[in-house]
Amino acid sequence: MPKIAKAVRDFVRQRAQDRCEYCVSPTWLTGQLHEIDHILPRVLGGDSNPENLCLACASCNGQKRDYVEAQDPLTGTMVTLFHPRKHEWHTHFEWSVDGVTILGRTAIGRATVILLAMNHPLIVSARSFWVDLGVHPPD
Ligand SMILES: [Zn+2]
Repeated sequence: MPKIAKAVRDFVRQRAQDRCEYCVSPTWLTGQLHEIDHILPRVLGGDSNPENLCLACASCNGQKRDYVEAQDPLTGTMVTLFHPRKHEWHTHFEWSVDGVTILGRTAIGRATVILLAMNHPLIVSARSFWVDLGVHPPD
């Protein structure tokens, strides 16, 4: 597979404001450089055009693997995953009142939260510190 050009990776990072486009964790709080995710995986024919790329933290990207759909835990229906280029984050997700848990507002949101483990205990623990620091949740 050809490497993604540095200029394209820089563009994707800048467009995402250095936040994971799934769980919105910022690079500067996680202390780890986020990865470039192929929204439609390469094994399913996805290319490296910026419209098929997004910035994803290691956790979200690692859980997403080559999935493009998942089961809505409420209805059991298979739905497409959240697509950062086509979907609006706030349409599909919202923060819990205490700001540490991502809630799915739609079937797409609920399925994506579960598949990507967006409320893994480790990230929930980190978010509670971020809330205490007054730097979370983001706008
Ligand atoms: Zn993430």
